[in-house]
Amino acid sequence: MKKLFYIPVAIAIFSLTMPGTALSAEQERDIVLRVSISDDRDNVNLALKGRYKMYPINSDAVVMEGPYLAANVTATKDGIKIGKGQIALAAVKVKVAKDSNIYVDSRRFRGDIDIIRKDNGRIMVVNYIGLEDYLYGVLYHEVSHRWPAEVLKAQAIAARTFALYQARQNKSQPYDLRSDIYSQVYGGRTSEKWSTTRAVDLTKGEVLTYNGDIVPAYYHATCAGYTEDASALWNMDVPYLKGVQCGYCKNSKHYKWRKEISLWELADKLKDGGYKIGKIASVTVLSKNRSDRVDKIEIKDDAGISVILTGKDFRQIIGPNEVRSTKFDASIKWNLLILEGLGWGHGVGMCQWGAYGMARKGMKAEEILKYYYPGTEISTIDKVKL
Ligand SMILES: [Zn+2]
Repeated sequence: MKKLFYIPVAIAIFSLTMPGTALSAEQERDIVLRVSISDDRDNVNLALKGRYKMYPINSDAVVMEGPYLAANVTATKDGIKIGKGQIALAAVKVKVAKDSNIYVDSRRFRGDIDIIRKDNGRIMVVNYIGLEDYLYGVLYHEVSHRWPAEVLKAQAIAARTFALYQARQNKSQPYDLRSDIYSQVYGGRTSEKWSTTRAVDLTKGEVLTYNGDIVPAYYHATCAGYTEDASALWNMDVPYLKGVQCGYCKNSKHYKWRKEISLWELADKLKDGGYKIGKIASVTVLSKNRSDRVDKIEIKDDAGISVILTGKDFRQIIGPNEVRSTKFDASIKWNLLILEGLGWGHGVGMCQWGAYGMARKGMKAEEILKYYYPGTEISTIDKVKL
């Protein structure tokens, strides 16, 4: 009798603890991202702490296995060398047992990895990782884990949407996302924090949509007053990325920046970028756009040769971390170009420090997202086409 009593209780508990998301377990398992965690490398350090197996891609024939591995990985003429072991394959998939860990260059990763010998003889490592697990390793790098929960939730939804958008764009590429600032910074399991993991869990499966389709949910650190129209940077003319006024990021530590570059270094960078220029005589901002960012900038040398660049190209050539935004004024003093700028990042979509300011004022994640991406809705993955 006792036994019979327990069965329905167990079923009841099970159904009560089923997650509230609309996603089935199967759907969740299906969304696996390919994230490049090392690319174009001479070698990488691999540590597999626990039982592991290596396979050819798309095969279950084991080519190497063991209880533990710590090895340097390099490319050989026709394959990959892992410690003393040579594998005559252009790529291997590495899987570890549950509760074992994969470390690549001392960073710890969830999921599986592929080690690929590229055609140029260099090594690339791609992490195969479930979408939600991936987000655990992204959030800490993109926002402070000490920020209020609503801004972390807004960031989780934006990052999830952005990842899916990138995966769709890059279907035919060897990976969906990079692990650096060119996609979203992803540090793997090493970068997980309690508060950011909770924000991912609380928004599980939630994405930002427009007319039922996922949006390119770009975001950046600080807009300093007005977010950028995406069409100023990319071939992307969409109503939810036209730019909005932002009065919420004034307390950002990235609000102002200043950069000095010697004129000879500027000339060198322009030459490296393929532009012919001699000794630089002047640098003039020719025009700014509606969001007060540099539209065109002219660099002239002492022989009168002129190079006119868009603000975006200028930033790319000098370096996006040197020129933190295209919202700047330029002047020359002695042999130095002085850039005095505002904000950090491309300025498109959600302003992270603005989102922080909104959350501090008591606004919810949904309000934050709808402010920076006007006209969008929060939906769930099962309702959108991937
Ligand atoms: Zn802002």
